[in-house]
Amino acid sequence: MKKISILGSTGSIGTQTLDVVKGHSKEFEVVGLAAFNEVDKMLEQIKEFKPEKVCLFEEKAAEELRKKTEIDVVSGIKGLEEIAVMDSAEQVIVSVVGAIGIKPTMKAIKKGKNIGLANKETLVSAGEPIMKKVKKQGIVLMPIDSEHSAIFQCLNGEEREKVNKVIITCSGGPFRGKKITDFYNSTPEQALGHPTWSMGAKITIDSSTLMNKGLEVLEAKWLYGLKLEEIEVIVHPQSLIHSMVEFVDGSIMAQVGTHDMRTPIQYALSYPKRVSNEFPKLNLIENNKLTFEKPDYENFPCLKYAFEAGKKGGTLPAAMNAANEIAVHAFLDKKIKYGQIPEIIKKVMDGHKNRKADSIETVLEEDKKAREKTKKIIEEQ
Ligand code: MG
Repeated sequence: MKKISILGSTGSIGTQTLDVVKGHSKEFEVVGLAAFNEVDKMLEQIKEFKPEKVCLFEEKAAEELRKKTEIDVVSGIKGLEEIAVMDSAEQVIVSVVGAIGIKPTMKAIKKGKNIGLANKETLVSAGEPIMKKVKKQGIVLMPIDSEHSAIFQCLNGEEREKVNKVIITCSGGPFRGKKITDFYNSTPEQALGHPTWSMGAKITIDSSTLMNKGLEVLEAKWLYGLKLEEIEVIVHPQSLIHSMVEFVDGSIMAQVGTHDMRTPIQYALSYPKRVSNEFPKLNLIENNKLTFEKPDYENFPCLKYAFEAGKKGGTLPAAMNAANEIAVHAFLDKKIKYGQIPEIIKKVMDGHKNRKADSIETVLEEDKKAREKTKKIIEEQ
């Protein structure tokens, strides 16, 4: 029986993780849950999964929940960190969205917990201090992202120095094949129509601008110790190949499957074992078309910016990520136009004074500065 805590239990990855737990009640048990402010949803999860302790980030929501349950309810960033370091949890699933995930992830690693990481921003912004600590503590950091789970599986049992390159696949998003001028004024509703995967709002917008792929490139760089020249992005509109690895002998290993996040989630929970499930399996005869295209860096400049940030390193990826988070939320709140998202990110990146990103404190400082700068740019436009 593996005991787990979930940070972000009411979101898309959190609820799917609970779905996996429900189907494997002999293998996995939930001991801690944390979410932002959804009282009723958390109450349902408490009744069904019987955790020892839960956190609602917003104090007001936590207060309301305390009236409805007997179990320990904590709140705020302290509360989130408390769930991340619970003694009884062996593995912590980090599925909160944004840079808020960095501190609790670091605390959990320091406490020797294995991590299931669905929060890209933690590695994008703080890859250096996080990976250093992962190595020092000897813990397992399992990716919960279909692409990185695919790469992890392709690398199983292989020698690192025999890898030529990693090929990350990308659906191309809802605007694939179009010019930026055609989708500059798109509404949130249009940008939220992802062709293959069903995900939360922030990541769906990131997928449409290809920033999501950019963040994944930076995530892969840290997870697998790659140089940026060893990472290639390829558009594969069917999203059935979740990513590939090319070896020195020219062999390419691919991991292929349905568009079901529960598969990489389950693998992150069960690793190094594989366990069976009732999820629909991929029918290759019905899905017999696999096509590949070059990514369009001109009309989707966010992908280019991510490669640039990765090459320059330091705190630039953290600043880029912070600018993106603020710009995407401003777009979802209809404060800026869709096409302004990359423009604003570029402005913040151009004005960034790069520093070494060797500590969480430095990263969070630069993250904060970049957020303030982005908000100012949005207000002044
Ligand atoms: Mg992904």
